[in-house]
Amino acid sequence: MIFIQRGPALALLCMSGAALAATAAAAVLAQRPMREVLPDIVVPVNYDLALSPDPDALSFNGKVVITVDVRAATSSVLLNAVGLTFDRATIDGGKAAAVATDGKLGRATLNFGAAIAAGRHILSIDYHGNIGRSTLGFFAMDYSGPDGPRRTLATNFEPAAARQLMPCWDEPGRKATFTVSIDAPKDRMAISNMPIADATSLSPTMQRVRFATSPKMSTYLLFVGVGDFERVHSTVDGVDLGIVVKRGDTGKAAYALDQAAKILHYYNDYFGIAFPLPKLDLIAAPGQISGGSMENWGAIFYSQNHLLFDPKTSTEDDRQLVFLVVSHEMAHQWFGDLVTMAWWDDLWLNEGFARWMQTFAADDLHPEWETGLKAASIFEQGKQADAVPSTHAVVQEVFTADQAAQSFDSITYNKGAAIITMLNAYVGRDEFRDGVRRYMHAHAFGNTVDTDLWRFVQQAVGRPIVDIEHDFTRQEGVPLVRVTRTANRVHLAQARFAADPSTIGNLPPQRWRLPLAVAGVSGDRHDVLLQGVADLALPTPLLVNAGQMGYARVLYSGETLDSLTAQLGALKPADQIGLLNDARALGIAGYAPASNMLKLAAALPAAANPIVWQRTLRVLTELEEHYGDTPQRAAYRGFALDMLAPLSARLGLTGTPNEPANIEILRSAVSETQGKFGDSVVIARARKLVDSGDGPPAAQRSAVLTVAAGADPGTFDALLARALKTGDPLQKQHLFKALAGVIDPALARRMIDVALGDQVPAGTAPELIVSLARKHPDLVWEVLAPRLDDARLPFEKTLRWRIAAAIAGFSSEPQRIADLEAYEARSVPAEARKPFLEAVASIRENQRIASDVLPEIDRWIAMHKKGTLAAGYRP
Ligand SMILES: [Zn+2]
Repeated sequence: MIFIQRGPALALLCMSGAALAATAAAAVLAQRPMREVLPDIVVPVNYDLALSPDPDALSFNGKVVITVDVRAATSSVLLNAVGLTFDRATIDGGKAAAVATDGKLGRATLNFGAAIAAGRHILSIDYHGNIGRSTLGFFAMDYSGPDGPRRTLATNFEPAAARQLMPCWDEPGRKATFTVSIDAPKDRMAISNMPIADATSLSPTMQRVRFATSPKMSTYLLFVGVGDFERVHSTVDGVDLGIVVKRGDTGKAAYALDQAAKILHYYNDYFGIAFPLPKLDLIAAPGQISGGSMENWGAIFYSQNHLLFDPKTSTEDDRQLVFLVVSHEMAHQWFGDLVTMAWWDDLWLNEGFARWMQTFAADDLHPEWETGLKAASIFEQGKQADAVPSTHAVVQEVFTADQAAQSFDSITYNKGAAIITMLNAYVGRDEFRDGVRRYMHAHAFGNTVDTDLWRFVQQAVGRPIVDIEHDFTRQEGVPLVRVTRTANRVHLAQARFAADPSTIGNLPPQRWRLPLAVAGVSGDRHDVLLQGVADLALPTPLLVNAGQMGYARVLYSGETLDSLTAQLGALKPADQIGLLNDARALGIAGYAPASNMLKLAAALPAAANPIVWQRTLRVLTELEEHYGDTPQRAAYRGFALDMLAPLSARLGLTGTPNEPANIEILRSAVSETQGKFGDSVVIARARKLVDSGDGPPAAQRSAVLTVAAGADPGTFDALLARALKTGDPLQKQHLFKALAGVIDPALARRMIDVALGDQVPAGTAPELIVSLARKHPDLVWEVLAPRLDDARLPFEKTLRWRIAAAIAGFSSEPQRIADLEAYEARSVPAEARKPFLEAVASIRENQRIASDVLPEIDRWIAMHKKGTLAAGYRP
């Protein structure tokens, strides 16, 4: 899964394990929460699944014949099932079982009345169920194609929704083989993890498509889909690699096919094991799916904007996004699919690794994008989530399916990727890769815990890697390194950083073995493994965490920071970003003046690396959003626009041939920021480009549409009409996304209704709603809150909780905290409330920014008005 940003009730003991209940172990286990797992008395070996969907009625019939091993005689079988009706269940063709279902636990007990002996048996279940509209489980996605309305059927299961398609042992550690067949119209394409083995005609229009048997794999990786698809493909290292798109979209598949071919070859080498299935399909959904995109083995399912690249309308940013999501999901084909975490505690093994690998592969295959530098934003998101009370250890105990769904968060992905980046740099890329290869070979088709990987890496390098890894994955929190100087000596002292230091006042002191590079600006460098304190003989000035590989914040004295700011232009881009990110976080938390971030931004030369500028724009925009509609906003906007003027002049209005891709992205980002900050020239230009015959050129599409959508009600209406009219889901998504950035509250109110209606591409409502909430959190909350418990809202439950928390988290209203608590108490199980803790921390931070940070920024701006800045800011 990709998770693109913005966590105890007692689980019940399994009931069929009569022997288990009698043991002393059960008495001990009963005292603390337990993993909600099935007993291992009966385990699956192969699923033979036959599906017969009725797309019009949104229902399906299923028959699953499961080869099972019974390890100890039992009269009942317990497995997972949600929303399925059992018509008949037998074992070895005998008497039908009595079936009892438990909707809360998502389980069914099949009671056969007589003992089933130990050994291999055939469990056969006929059942039926419904096809849903939310994009988790087994669902339909509609769109209007050139030949009329079309309905795509597809599945998306992680972490625990395979049980909505078939009765099964729906846990990552219960691997089995799968043989799938589905009844489908002859003029539609059916896809699953494996290639088609045969097709049998059922009628003049229908056929039964049967797929080859898969290798052993986890249930959450199963995929079945039927749609009006086309497929383009090539053969890479003996594997049939395909891009599957809705009919008419093959022109948008060429880029992904080209890149996926390069990535497949690259991973075959990196992992030291060739991709083990005969084919790999990358399938574009006609909309967005829950979780972003999903790494089903051999049949990756993508939200359309993560796979399609339209040369006519896609931007350079879109091009890089497609690469990153393709490389992320393809990394999972090994890391996650071939070798799988034993349980959701170790989800970071999958997701931290894939998020790290997407950057690593991009840096090797497209060095000109400087993706490693962009990944500073990934680490920053991890540090931000790790500095508030809702944080958790990267390796955390997960008890229930709901908790597993909540684990797909910034700690798991972004802190996870930051830790792996740090360790890869510390170990060395060749040694790290050797460790990964040995791990892959040792555990192929199996399940692991995280130490299994780090032991191999440790062996490859001969240094205590497991200890370092444990320091960062078993304890929560971001290390803070305080730097003090005396004549020719530097003193480093470690503590814990918090976004609100009062939240960690009572915690015991923490220590991390932190790999850290300390450098003079002239390039001399000392590598230390900091644990607690260190005292180094070093010339000044100095930079701590040079290269920014260490997972930490660095707090300098004001004098040292001023001298670094004065030399900012001479520092490496990674360090420029690191200083800015730390200044922002330390300033908002009150460790240092918040105006430090503006000092650094103002000292950045127009010729600085475009990625450093992009990060700076983000910091400026976030501050602007905190101002809301207050009188002070005008002065802030004026200051920021003044600061951006030299950069904007340098970039010009349009690109030059052969300019670096990142310059093109920056030009777009600068004009979008200027437009958002009310620059009338930029707004007028955007409006004109939108009105011009062909619309804005591809390179500027996103920025121009976003600025124009917020310009005035007339332009908003024109763009909305255009979005509603086009039949193409990708174009619709581009336009609606721009419209969701609207600033005017009355237009935002209209847009909320549009987002919740059935005119937007399938699955895109969550993103649009959260996007609207960035600027209008309280308005969106007022509209959505009364509907959160309405079953017709097209969001599945864990997504509802996340959306509710995300919307409220943008607010600074104390009332939102009370509202969230009321919603939690009413509708959310206690063990799944982590997003709400996060939202409360965010609301409190927003309040702190309004009361403490913005006034300080205002004072600083008043002292550095236009004119002072013309020659660039100097401390
Ligand atoms: Zn993933």
